Amino acid sequence: MSATRARSVQNEITISNPATGERVGSVAVATAADVKAAALRARRAQPAWERLGVRRRRRVLERFHDLLFERQDEIFDTIQRESGKTRREALGELLIVAGTARYYLAHGEEHLAEESHPGASPLITGARVGHRPYGLVGFITPWNYPFILSIGDALPALLAGNAVLVKPSELTPLSAELGRDLLATSGLDADLVQLVHGPGATVGAELVDHVDYLGFTGSTATGRKVAVAAAERLIPCSLELGGKNPMIVLAGAPLEEAVTGLVSGGFYNTGQTCIAVARVYVESRIFDRFAALARRRIEKLKVGWSLDWDMDVGSLVSREHAAKVMRHVEDAVGKGATVLTGGQRRSDLGEAFVAPTLLTDVDESMELCREETFGPVVALYPVRDADEAVARANDSTYGLNASVWTGSARTSRALARRIEAGSVGINSTLLIYSTFDVPMGGVKESGIGRRHGRQGILRFTQAQSIVDSIATGGGYEGVLANITSEARARSLAAAFKLMRRIPGLR
Ligand code: NAD
Repeated sequence: MSATRARSVQNEITISNPATGERVGSVAVATAADVKAAALRARRAQPAWERLGVRRRRRVLERFHDLLFERQDEIFDTIQRESGKTRREALGELLIVAGTARYYLAHGEEHLAEESHPGASPLITGARVGHRPYGLVGFITPWNYPFILSIGDALPALLAGNAVLVKPSELTPLSAELGRDLLATSGLDADLVQLVHGPGATVGAELVDHVDYLGFTGSTATGRKVAVAAAERLIPCSLELGGKNPMIVLAGAPLEEAVTGLVSGGFYNTGQTCIAVARVYVESRIFDRFAALARRRIEKLKVGWSLDWDMDVGSLVSREHAAKVMRHVEDAVGKGATVLTGGQRRSDLGEAFVAPTLLTDVDESMELCREETFGPVVALYPVRDADEAVARANDSTYGLNASVWTGSARTSRALARRIEAGSVGINSTLLIYSTFDVPMGGVKESGIGRRHGRQGILRFTQAQSIVDSIATGGGYEGVLANITSEARARSLAAAFKLMRRIPGLR
């Protein structure tokens, strides 16, 4: 995803509001030595944090959770000013970060608790599994949700006992800086959260060399590169990548509600959402009605930017990104796509605004048919029936999120199970991101690994198995050592044969 709004002058990046052009701050570009020093500071602070234990680590997260609401206006202003998004979307970021904190405050301790397991043989052995932090977890993050993806994702890593080293997008580093400040104000040793800024190809690549686990969120193209770099170092990584997410609407679906799903799924955050709706497969017999309803609702959206609550759709993150979105639209229109609404820039509002766009007659010759546009552009496709809808939904290299609208919970669930995606929403498009107890992530080229839920915290830990045996009579080793005759061998074999049949010993 090319976007170069941030100007890098020598060792500093100047951040400006893409909606207004106003300068909103700057950050220093890290050198290789800075990244190394930041990693070292974090590593020095980590053992004491791990030794504190999860209960005492929770206290920081409790204070952080409440502080988010005490300082919410400052958070909204910072997110909005560096990204060009609306105030409602900035509130959405705060709610997800607070929700992540709340979820792991309630469940983190139980997810991280040492587990007791059956040993190799009954009575004389036992086993326990502990979850030890990796040590230093690195995050490389994009610009579309600068607070959630840099700070929200770091919360479970910290609670698990790690230090973190974060490289936010060079376009939106200020929300992460504010998040770090909030964590320090909440009582966290500031050395445990290190931020390094600068271009991905240099600072991001350098970060990979110093961490024990890498959490990457960004485009599939960059994900491939960082996965190779992580593999070279034999460190694990999770990759939260792109999507071209389908929505299926069948006759029988509540159409007004489905249009609400399309509008929020397609245009929330100006379409710059990894799980955004991009392709809508609508059963032919309701296609015209659905298209007309969608068009009418989209035309009512208020586009613009302000620090008030009055806007529905904000700016794109940069002029360059707006140009890329428009290239997709113009390529499609030039090859025969029909614009139902939108289809042009809103230069009257600023240099990075694109009108919410609904297209139809999109075919394989057009770039936006398969590639991630990552802007306020949704394409409608008529389909014969559910089977064609599922086949076309699955005909993609991506598999992040999908949504299904049929009017019947049973039919929707059956359809959802046939879709190749890490998550499927029924009667909702973006719900997965707020459902903190279940894993969220992609299949196919949408990624590897999951955030949220049990997996979302255990991924920042390594399992350590502690197996024990009684010492008497040589313990477990003694069992085999004592087989010195055919009769004993037969008894042991008979006991093993029986184990499969006795509940509790299997
Ligand atoms: P991007 O891949 O261009 O950049 C992401 C981050 O990687 C940035 O911090 C960038 O500086 C860094 N980077 C770039 N090249 C690098 C390299 N060679 N080595 C190390 N780091 C490098 O993505 P973007 O344009 O910032 O973000 C948009 C993309 O993110 C979209 O594809 C979107 O779908 C995806 N995304 C995915 C999720 C998810 O959860 N699956 C969430 C949000 C965004």
